[in-house]
Amino acid sequence: MNLTTKGIVLRATNYKESDKILSIFSLELGKISATLKGCRKPNAKLKFAGMPFCFAEFELVKKGDFFTVTNVTEIESFFGITTDFDKLWYATSVLECCEFVINQNEPNTKLFLACLKALKGFCFESLDSKILLIKFLTELFACTGYEIETIKCKKCDAVLHHDLFFDFNLSSFVCSLCRDENTVKILPAEYSAFKIINQTEFEKLSSIKLKSDILDTLIHILSTNFTAKFGHNIKSLKILKK
Ligand SMILES: [Zn+2]
Repeated sequence: MNLTTKGIVLRATNYKESDKILSIFSLELGKISATLKGCRKPNAKLKFAGMPFCFAEFELVKKGDFFTVTNVTEIESFFGITTDFDKLWYATSVLECCEFVINQNEPNTKLFLACLKALKGFCFESLDSKILLIKFLTELFACTGYEIETIKCKKCDAVLHHDLFFDFNLSSFVCSLCRDENTVKILPAEYSAFKIINQTEFEKLSSIKLKSDILDTLIHILSTNFTAKFGHNIKSLKILKK
């Protein structure tokens, strides 16, 4: 069966002498694994497709659950991300998270667009990578059924004020009366920073300026929440901490 799909290469692993196995976030098919034959040969025409961050239209042949890439037409190159160490690993975290939450035959258009907007931001805009990652993770939770509630306590429905906590069971903010062993204290400045990022479109994030230590705390909370919801530690973020 022949198929055509738009997709983003999440990961590429060497296979046999000159092939690669690609993990692709496909707009139409969810996550798929596909063999890209001969792409490690010196003058391979489709070499560019054998790398993470490639956004392209893939022509595929499907046999059972296996895909083979027959042609690739690049739509946009985000390869510029790889020239900046910090951006590279924040952007790699985005790919890692997508790879972990998306399954084959489970397309997620909203998450696909969030991933694309995040990669564009890392590649082409001079904005804070930490803000961009926080925005992406917030969208990821919303796209996977764990939308973070910021107005009311998720447990008792009370309107949230300055004395509040983040609950990793509920993936949301809760009031001080509803705190338990699965919650952490959130400072007012952290809460308002989160709300600002949450309410701002990807395209307008460059207008936001926030303190780095506040952003670090929010990334820590969201990555802990990712582990709590999906059972996976975001490894790419650990490289940034070293
Ligand atoms: Zn409450």
